[in-house]
Amino acid sequence: MATSKVYSICGMCTVRCPIMVEVEKGEIQFVQGNPHVAAMKGAVCPRGSAGPALIRDKERPQAPMMRVGERGEGQWRTVSWDEALDYVANRMTLIKDKYGPESIALTDRGGPFRDMHRAFLRGLGTPNYCNHDASCARNVHHANLSLTGLGRKDVVYDLKNAGHVVLQLRNIFEAINVQEVNNLMDALENGCKLTVIDIRANVSASKAHNFMLIRPGTDYAFNLAVIHELINKNLYDQDYAYRFINGLDQLKQFVAPYTPEWAETETGVSAIALRNFVRELANAKPSVIWHPGWMTARYKQSFYTCRSIYIINALLGAFGAKGGLPLANKPADFGKSGLKKFMDLYPKPQQKRADGVGWKYPHFEEGPGLAHLLYNAMETKDPYPIKAYIAYRHDPLMGFPEPERLKKMFANLDLMVSVTFSWSDTAWYSDVVLPLSPYLERESILACKNGLKPHFFVRKRAVEPRFDTKADWEIISGLAKRMGLEQLVFESIEDIWRYQLGGTDVQIEDFSGTGMVMLTNKAKYRTFDDLKFKTSSGKIEIISEKLEKHGIKSLEPYQSPEKPSEGHFRLTFGRCALHTQGHTVNNPMLNEQMPENVLWINIEEAEKLGITDGSTVTVSQNGYAETIKAKVTEMIHPEAVFVVHGFGHRLPVESRAFMKGLADNKFMKNGLDIWDPVGGAVALQEHFVKVSKE
Ligand code: SF4
Repeated sequence: MATSKVYSICGMCTVRCPIMVEVEKGEIQFVQGNPHVAAMKGAVCPRGSAGPALIRDKERPQAPMMRVGERGEGQWRTVSWDEALDYVANRMTLIKDKYGPESIALTDRGGPFRDMHRAFLRGLGTPNYCNHDASCARNVHHANLSLTGLGRKDVVYDLKNAGHVVLQLRNIFEAINVQEVNNLMDALENGCKLTVIDIRANVSASKAHNFMLIRPGTDYAFNLAVIHELINKNLYDQDYAYRFINGLDQLKQFVAPYTPEWAETETGVSAIALRNFVRELANAKPSVIWHPGWMTARYKQSFYTCRSIYIINALLGAFGAKGGLPLANKPADFGKSGLKKFMDLYPKPQQKRADGVGWKYPHFEEGPGLAHLLYNAMETKDPYPIKAYIAYRHDPLMGFPEPERLKKMFANLDLMVSVTFSWSDTAWYSDVVLPLSPYLERESILACKNGLKPHFFVRKRAVEPRFDTKADWEIISGLAKRMGLEQLVFESIEDIWRYQLGGTDVQIEDFSGTGMVMLTNKAKYRTFDDLKFKTSSGKIEIISEKLEKHGIKSLEPYQSPEKPSEGHFRLTFGRCALHTQGHTVNNPMLNEQMPENVLWINIEEAEKLGITDGSTVTVSQNGYAETIKAKVTEMIHPEAVFVVHGFGHRLPVESRAFMKGLADNKFMKNGLDIWDPVGGAVALQEHFVKVSKE
């Protein structure tokens, strides 16, 4: 029997790497990185290779289900797709008629395949689309917008050609992006320097030339001192600054008090180490990448920390530079048409958003909104009631603080639907579960990747669904058909792809050879003569017109973070290479590799509390407590404890993950109200826990 090769897109995390799947007799034999994408080097990460285990897993929703008991009780009735879609469409129609279309909301995990979800909402007439970004990268996005007018993804991190890479709020070797890791490894072999600034010596730190252990919550202080040093020692790129930066004098004045000696008292990093680092960094300019991070929903001042990172990149002339942050190209930059958007089928709803973005909070960009404020509106009914909610591949009960409070907010809904390929707390709490086929069993709409070499790519189904599950487009199309949105009703994925390719000179068959269609063969770097920023002056603006207009400071003085009291620690969390948040924790293969998380605690602090490595400890906050094994180490700052996020599952249906590890989001009292008012993201690491010997 011949082995067939299917080009597809990994779905085990939000990076969505291009893959090639070998299939024989309808079974997957092997998953590897797409060999036509050089930076993949044929590899996938551990989670990527656990995709086949996901499709074999019987502990995932196997057919549509409707709740028969109370919400969260776990009493289900298996139903046909027709019954499930009829029910959801009918309920949504009734809700729409009674409360208006704006009473319907949907959240997802963002990414390149969401165009149909958003078009569906537009077709219904509701503005209430949010993704998970309020618990992830919103601060980064808003920081770059406020400085350059460019979004987070409008610049490329040209790691392969970099001369010095700084990772702060980014743990690239564990929160893996395969192409980024390979490119960085190549750069390191070619002499690139790597600096890691973190509260913990993570795997990225183990590969760094220079690791600086920093006091939790003081990154902004460190960065202000770096700016001070760059300016005061004239180490910045003066020609670039003259040409492209407005507001340098105000910046110089602002950072004057933030000397390296001052920063040492805040951060614990010596002034000498900071000065040496800045000199090294400046030597590599402009091929420098100070990565602004990804998951920066951490501290109340994270927006300003991210903004300071982008300011440093600007001072080093990295924006637009090869080996720095060149601007991403779009199809139009090569005279090509982009994919036709489903969103354009319907006008933008005029109703104001329930989360307040765009009117109550005019300084935020609308886009994916702020999910925590949407949930708030479910409770307050302000500005209007939200009555139907679809959590589309999104698990806010694991990803946001205060799950019990969130459940009370959800109690105001007349309909709660979860579209998911794995069980989650949110799915368990829903009225209807619509089981999504895992990525190896489904096709997705075509997507475009902007960058140095923009291209279209396709996710193809490698094998037929083994259970009664469906692809995204089938679910949206099925609901659209029942709700009178004829333009979103498609009979086959080929019809969808043909629609998207209308107006381009690309055919579906063009994807057959490699799974992609490149819109250029040569990476395009703009010359500095072509460099123009999307601000009103066309330059990088240290003083943001938009922020100031809304009474927000562009340059915010540093506030020293709270210190934990005796026996208490700041609770921090992050990723590892074996799991993607909560949805891989019950995966048979990954669970075997890493069944639970452990609590990193500093060795001296542990000794004071009589805690030994491997012993069980109690973590508590405000009367809530869980137990977890301790990892006693000198590799973490004494003020913090750390866990890998995503553990602490309490659903019996997930037998492998059941009762293993600790869920960090349950230790964030009032966490939904603690968010960065300028960047928008929830400040997930502004919480303290007590740790004691069990
Ligand atoms: S980084 Fe790993 S899990 Fe994420 S898309 Fe790539 S291979 Fe898949």
